[in-house]
Amino acid sequence: MINRTKIFLLLLVFSFTSHSQGIKTFFESPNDNYYISSDLHIHTVFSDGVVWPTLRVDEALRDSIDLISLTEHIEYQSHISDIPHKNRNRSFQIAGGYVQNQPLAVVHGTEITKPMPPGHFNAIFIDDANRFFDIDKKPLEFSKAIKEANKQGAFVFWNHPHWEANRSDGIAKLDPIHKEIIKKGLLHGIEVVNFDTFSEEALQIALENELTIMGTSDVHILIEWDFINKKESYHRPLTFIMSKNKSIDSVKKALFDGNTFVWYRDLIIGKLENLNQVIENNFEIISKGYNYRDRKVEILEVELKNKSVAPINLKYTGEYTFHNDYKYIELSPRSSKTIYIKTKEVKKTINLKFEILNYVVGPKTNLIFSKNINTLN
Ligand SMILES: [Zn+2]
Ligand SMILES: [Zn+2]
Repeated sequence: MINRTKIFLLLLVFSFTSHSQGIKTFFESPNDNYYISSDLHIHTVFSDGVVWPTLRVDEALRDSIDLISLTEHIEYQSHISDIPHKNRNRSFQIAGGYVQNQPLAVVHGTEITKPMPPGHFNAIFIDDANRFFDIDKKPLEFSKAIKEANKQGAFVFWNHPHWEANRSDGIAKLDPIHKEIIKKGLLHGIEVVNFDTFSEEALQIALENELTIMGTSDVHILIEWDFINKKESYHRPLTFIMSKNKSIDSVKKALFDGNTFVWYRDLIIGKLENLNQVIENNFEIISKGYNYRDRKVEILEVELKNKSVAPINLKYTGEYTFHNDYKYIELSPRSSKTIYIKTKEVKKTINLKFEILNYVVGPKTNLIFSKNINTLN
């Protein structure tokens, strides 16, 4: 059984690295870095979802996603009498067999599902979900299950810590058990976005405890019913993994190293250094010189360019005023806008400083972007 699982994994690494063309670029990345789009929290009929694993693959391909994991509940199997399966790796094996020669990888995962505290945890990059049961076929108790996940080399993250079914005030907070698994190095990430919720408190916990910032769909029905039809530009939450290359090893390392950011509705959420890199590669400022309506005046023409799939909502915080615009400027996805800056005298360089209102680097905290522009290029 275990050998069979390993064979699937090897095939997936191959298809993942050799068929990367055709995938939509959501965000531009530096030459030595790939932003791998991922949804690492998904259910099928093999736990409490309502669709077959191959449909999850088809949905992900339609959404141009690079990496998914089918994270069936260990403890909660609502269709078990209709779909009995002793082998808890089946969901992964069916999806893995189906995905071959596609620009998508499926990695093996599962959801350890306990009452709060501690709550629910995803273990990604496991070898064998059957080892989360004892000899009496009972699910391992939490402390043994999280150790087993780590023994298999899994990346473990805390799911929906702000779920109102567990926390009636919707506030994510650490119980002693969470502090213990963080201290022991058994927990590596935390969902700050789950389905249609975003928790600033979970983001604070991530930053304070160096947990990797995650956002997932946790989809149980069709992706289209949950995310697409509500609004034209609506999309499932995605975690972008900032990886040196497209191998599974590199992706896994990036997750453990905290190199992620989350795209949720119009928000980009991540730690400061990561969002600095995202904005640096997706927001371009190009000076067109001093030539306002063919007049030699002290009004500088500047093009603001958004290369990403998400909007960039700017608040200018510098000293100048503009000739046509106010301090709030919205750049739609993949768009450009020209602004005219009244610099009072012709300058060789100017500094432009913005708050990026939809880039979130902490609770109630936006990313600050500052750039020196050569005006006479
Ligand atoms: Zn859950
Ligand atoms: Zn779940």
